Amino acid sequence: MELTDAQFERYARHLILDEVGDAGQEKLLQARVLVVGAGGLGAPMLLYLAAAGVGTIGIIDDDHVDLSNLQRQVIHMTERVGSAKTQSAAATIAAVNPDIVVEQHATRLTADNVMALINDYDVIADGSDNFSTRYLLNDACHLAGKTLVAGALLRFEGQLSTFRSGVSGHQDAPCYRCLFPAPPAAGTVPRCDEAGILGAVAGVIGTLQATEVIKEILSLGDSMAGRLMLYDSLSGSFRTVKFKRNPECPLCGDAPQIQAVS
Ligand code: ZN
Repeated sequence: MELTDAQFERYARHLILDEVGDAGQEKLLQARVLVVGAGGLGAPMLLYLAAAGVGTIGIIDDDHVDLSNLQRQVIHMTERVGSAKTQSAAATIAAVNPDIVVEQHATRLTADNVMALINDYDVIADGSDNFSTRYLLNDACHLAGKTLVAGALLRFEGQLSTFRSGVSGHQDAPCYRCLFPAPPAAGTVPRCDEAGILGAVAGVIGTLQATEVIKEILSLGDSMAGRLMLYDSLSGSFRTVKFKRNPECPLCGDAPQIQAVS
């Protein structure tokens, strides 16, 4: 694949980086990334992945743009209130970078469709806002051998990690269940719509997720696999904690109990 003149100009600030260069840019253009959720995390992630030239971006979201989304979901415009989020995100991406092929999946991610959906992509990014999707993606990506870059938000805080426990050559890497073996009981952790979220915090974590996705595609620097980054906007601080594969993990441990998504 040869870059066109317009691509040389568009991606000039990537091409000048020795660690990216022509070969890296071509890798990005050939990459296929699935972003789950075109919401607070998905919006900045999709914008940066599209701007960076990630060639094929899948978007899963079954929701419509609501006026209350616009405080943080910066890929959606006021005039698109009521439109499908996948359509609205695809329209913005087309305006940012016509190089990008967008695959819209206006559906809810379920145990029945998750394996088929993730199979078509190289890297999966979780921008969902609920525990059932988070565990479903963790389990499915482990079983399918996919890299998962996951972010989460609550009020003034965010967190980020990368899971690649199922990826060949990375079997020592922990999964999300190594940290938290099972979802919290329903109702014990407030959701974003109940607890609130400072909009720009979604921008911080979603942008970090886009950065980690690009690093995974380019095998650049240190992966966030085995590390959990915690951001507290009120104290203005980042903290990173290391964690290891739990031999008793029900998914990636020595005697796994989970062998299919449910
Ligand atoms: Zn695990």
